[in-house]
Amino acid sequence: MNYAKIDPNLCKGCRVCINSCPKHCILLGDSINEIGYQYAQFVPGSPCTACGICFYVCPEFGAVTVFKDEEDANG
Ligand code: SF4
Ligand code: SF4
Repeated sequence: MNYAKIDPNLCKGCRVCINSCPKHCILLGDSINEIGYQYAQFVPGSPCTACGICFYVCPEFGAVTVFKDEEDANG
């Protein structure tokens, strides 16, 4: 299973990854992180292809990590 893991405390909720994912795998959650932003969350079970677009477009270094063919979808 492929998935993207988003570090809640590095994300600033800019939505760039959300708007860029061709498979609509990422949503903005309701929770607030420790620096005061709503943060993006990967939707478990969504059809991620591990294309890496979310990783490349994210302006916050280290916020997104993409995993390909991992058994544990929750990272
Ligand atoms: S790797 Fe691609 S398909 Fe998977 S969440 Fe990121 S943009 Fe979407
Ligand atoms: S692009 Fe990065 S900072 Fe922006 S919402 Fe996605 S994970 Fe958060």
